[in-house]
Amino acid sequence: MRALESFHTGNSPQVCKDLLGRTPLFLSESQSIASVAFIADGSVPMVELPLLAGNSTICVPDSVAMPEALGRVTHLGVGAHQDDLEFMAFQGIAECYGSHELWFGGVTCTDGKGSSRNLAYANLSSDELAALRRQEQEEAARIGRFGIMIQLGHASSEATNPQSDLLPNDLFQILTATRPRIVYTHSPADKHRTHLGVFAALLQALRRMPTVDRPSKVIGCEGWRDLDWLCDGEKVRMDVSGRGDLAEKLNSVFASQIAGGKRYDLAVTGRRAANATFYEPREGDHASQVLVGIDLTPLVMDDSIDVIDFTRGFIRRFEDEVVHGLTPYFRK
Ligand SMILES: [Zn+2]
Repeated sequence: MRALESFHTGNSPQVCKDLLGRTPLFLSESQSIASVAFIADGSVPMVELPLLAGNSTICVPDSVAMPEALGRVTHLGVGAHQDDLEFMAFQGIAECYGSHELWFGGVTCTDGKGSSRNLAYANLSSDELAALRRQEQEEAARIGRFGIMIQLGHASSEATNPQSDLLPNDLFQILTATRPRIVYTHSPADKHRTHLGVFAALLQALRRMPTVDRPSKVIGCEGWRDLDWLCDGEKVRMDVSGRGDLAEKLNSVFASQIAGGKRYDLAVTGRRAANATFYEPREGDHASQVLVGIDLTPLVMDDSIDVIDFTRGFIRRFEDEVVHGLTPYFRK
């Protein structure tokens, strides 16, 4: 048996209070993914909550009971690293912020041990950096009023292992428990290997769900590579103008990265501004901050679609567009 304290509960004593206030019926470590059934008032089983990877942590910023925290999620962001959600899925966070009907659920898949570390953070051990990054992510969840924040704590080597089923299994459990309407994740054209591993694991998990339970919209988002190159008609444009204060608060939480030498805060807002202005050359700006996504819904609705062919299709259509523009001048 493993102790309940394997659930990290954050700095604030009220966080995850309901989780800690319950009794686990069983918690087996004989499987890599153990199920925990909780009882309330010592009797009635309330929910079967998957206990995910060994280092997983769950944070419910407003301390509602776990069944409610899971069941209320409408928008789910699934990212590789701490900070990916705030940078790539900000539209979902902003849309749910302050709403009583819409709730953002966050999933961060890796432990953050491989993060960049410079300057004031250069001397941190991998474990110290991972702990700091986990705290930063929980703080972002509180500031962004997430419905739930799950950090799976997988090593990057696990998330990028195409042979492993651990991450797809974890994500399947979360999808089954939350059944979100809309899901944000990394783009299949991202250049970061761990981002691609998460995208692949999530797609596996989504395709395991019964078709009727799958989300109605799945968006691949900008990260390590923007999506400005997509043909305009294929862009999912997410206008987040007017939410600068929230974006700034969220972005500045990740001090270990920003002060550690990566100005992600400036880069993501600069990219959003560029997406807004460089969209339409002949008109004034209709928005000041725009994220671009790639619509992955067809991949989720039709299991027979090949991911490589699907992704290559966007690149080929971009190629055609560029060649079409040059042809009148150079192919007379
Ligand atoms: Zn990342």
